[in-house]
Amino acid sequence: MTDQMPVTTVNAKTVTLPDAQTVTHVRHWTDRLFSFRVKRPASLRFRSGEFVMLGLMGDSGKPLLRAYSIASPAWDDELEFYSIKVPDGPLTSRLQHVREGEQIILRTKPVGTLVLDALLPGNRLWLFATGTGIAPFASLVRDPETYERYAEVVLMHTCRDVAELDYGRKLVESIRADDLLAELIGEDFADRLRYYPSTTREPSATMGRITDNLLTGKVLADLAIDGISPDKDRGMVCGSFEFIKDMKAVLEGFGLEEGANSDPKHYVVEKAFVGDGI
Ligand code: FAD
Ligand code: NAP
Repeated sequence: MTDQMPVTTVNAKTVTLPDAQTVTHVRHWTDRLFSFRVKRPASLRFRSGEFVMLGLMGDSGKPLLRAYSIASPAWDDELEFYSIKVPDGPLTSRLQHVREGEQIILRTKPVGTLVLDALLPGNRLWLFATGTGIAPFASLVRDPETYERYAEVVLMHTCRDVAELDYGRKLVESIRADDLLAELIGEDFADRLRYYPSTTREPSATMGRITDNLLTGKVLADLAIDGISPDKDRGMVCGSFEFIKDMKAVLEGFGLEEGANSDPKHYVVEKAFVGDGI
């Protein structure tokens, strides 16, 4: 903290600006999922797909922060986040009650592996998400650079129930209706974004885990894609530890190799949350 910096209060605790950001919009999707937007700090530069630390002041007087993927694209003048509500979660049991006009704490040091630069050039980008793991991809599918780099983008999102797919469905609808993106990327871009939602516990038009739908060839048949190969396909994976572990095996089976910011290859992974004991 420096003497010159102005201060503000976040749930009655003093915070040094520029860490406090005002919430501009909140939307509840289900009883365990919500999204919110905040003003973007002028100092924040990030690459679509990265995450930041955000939170509220804890009862101890120290910030209570968690990792959150930025769900809005790098060009947006607001930041969007898509969040779980963990009933007894230290942060989200409180964050889920945040309202427009209130403030949260946001650290402006973005990091992450789900960035375009961590992949070798290719023809088709696969985005594999379960649950809130769609958040970093909500950023990437709204970024014109994604379509400059790839002829085709396939977003696979799987949740237990139909209602949990709503955020992704609305996202894709809004992208396809976005005239500015069409102007920037080309009128055909709506066809270049392929969307493949599925559920695993509640009946819906497309059922099944992402891993199973890849291994059985169902998704390839449904989208008329003739195969996945390291020559042209690139992948990004975001979900639970178990999902990532199983997806790695599937992608390695197709011959793809895992890359990183410092060593771009065919696919990259990032946990959507740290589970119990992991
Ligand atoms: P915590 O004590 O953090 O978690 C309690 C338990 O809840 C965990 O052990 C786990 O079993 C479960 N849990 C936590 N987060 C999730 C989740 N997202 N989905 C399903 N179960 C979960 N969370 C988001 O909601 N949106 C994001 O964009 C997001 N991005 C992340 C990016 C990274 C790199 C990492 C590591 C985590 C991310 N998380 C995200 C998880 C987030 O950091 C917190 O764990 C979450 O906000 C819950 O905080 P909490 O303090 O309430 O509970
Ligand atoms: P999740 O358990 O990771 O499941 C999200 C989706 O990923 C589901 O469709 C699931 O399919 C699929 N999946 C899980 N592991 C996979 C793997 N190894 N390979 C491929 N696909 C995989 O995440 P979540 O639903 O967000 O739940 C997170 C936590 O919240 C869990 O502890 C859960 O008990 C708790 N919770 C969830 C709900 C809910 O309605 N989603 C409600 C209350 C509490 P399967 O269905 O086949 O596992």
